[in-house]
Amino acid sequence: MFSIQNIGVEALAEQFGTPVYVYDGHKIEEQIAKMRTAFAGTNLKIKYACKALTNVSIMKLMRKNGVDIDVVSMQEAHLAILAGYEPHQIQYTPSGVAFSEVQEAVEMGLRMNLDSLPLLEKFGQTYGNCFPICLRINPHIMAGGTLKISTGHKDSKFGISIEQAEEINAIVQKYDLNVVGLHQHTGSDFKNANVIIEAAEKLFDLTFKYFPNIQFIDLGSGFKVAYKEDDHVTDMEKLGKEVVKVFNNFCQKFGREVELWFEPGKFLVSESGYLLVRANVVKHNPARNFIGVDSGLNHLIRPMMYDAYHKIINGSNLDGEEKEMYDIVGYICETDTFGKDRLLPKTKEGDIMVIKNAGAYGFSMASNYNSRFRPAEVLIYNGQTHLIRQRETMEDILKNQVVIDL
Ligand SMILES: *Cc1c(COP(=O)(O)O)cnc(C)c1O
Repeated sequence: MFSIQNIGVEALAEQFGTPVYVYDGHKIEEQIAKMRTAFAGTNLKIKYACKALTNVSIMKLMRKNGVDIDVVSMQEAHLAILAGYEPHQIQYTPSGVAFSEVQEAVEMGLRMNLDSLPLLEKFGQTYGNCFPICLRINPHIMAGGTLKISTGHKDSKFGISIEQAEEINAIVQKYDLNVVGLHQHTGSDFKNANVIIEAAEKLFDLTFKYFPNIQFIDLGSGFKVAYKEDDHVTDMEKLGKEVVKVFNNFCQKFGREVELWFEPGKFLVSESGYLLVRANVVKHNPARNFIGVDSGLNHLIRPMMYDAYHKIINGSNLDGEEKEMYDIVGYICETDTFGKDRLLPKTKEGDIMVIKNAGAYGFSMASNYNSRFRPAEVLIYNGQTHLIRQRETMEDILKNQVVIDL
């Protein structure tokens, strides 16, 4: 298993340069195994929400482990095809897209998850019951760490309101739609099983009432992972036990076995990822000490956008006795603080700083702001180190610019 203590971060930084994203393939497999163990006794299907980390080699690793894919754009669907997925293994869960995009997805053979009544109506008019569909239901449950990342509450834009069940049913009847799945995704970072069980019960009720042909129930994701040692996280084993109980109960009442789907993003890849950056400058101001690193909100925006806590360690001086309080800040012309008031071994210019939990929504949310290059990505797997994305170059920055004569 990858550990920052025994992997040469200096050597990695030397070989691939900084900043660089490094992923531990075995950690991803460990997370997959944790889910399988937790939900043993149900017909579990894991659909990796690939927007968390869209590198094709990572998606191939998922496929190798029997994990399917959930995509939120056609571009992600094309990446999944490149990773070797069959279209029917790809569920498409878009949010508020034009019907032309739905048509494109259907023609490609993807499994559609529809999230509005107008879309459902158009789907019915166009395809009738020719294709199986899933419905994204908003169960109106408040879950999630912050409003920004919770998606299942009443004021959220996501899904079809559960209070419109009769309207849904009217459209389904009118076009004889083939509804094979019901989906809900309450948003990120819920704290305990109650939320997911409450949402599940609502989908079960709907199923009994209107959808006798259901083949799966998709309970989305939002599993919380540890960012700090003492973080309250989703206890997968406990959650599994409780969900398996109510789910099997439901299947029994329903009279047949239904698949249980989840779409984890963060849970599968967050902890596998490390962003290695270099200390460009160590600045002792009267009020604070700053470590300025060769990265910023252009590479990892979660601390600034979601106030996310990411643990940071000094990979060049892991056990130094002499400690100091630092703010770790980026090089972008914005206030881009990775971490405030972090007690770290004395840090000097050139040290490699390691930002943890960088696997999910790290690279995939990176940009070229300040016209900086996006980092390289490296996968460590089976004792081998693979470059899975090159660092960008000036060519990438200029690729789509049309420079006119003036
Ligand atoms: C983003 C997303 C997920 C993944 O959420 P995580 O908190 O990263 O696990 C799952 N399902 C849908 C529909 C999503 O949009």
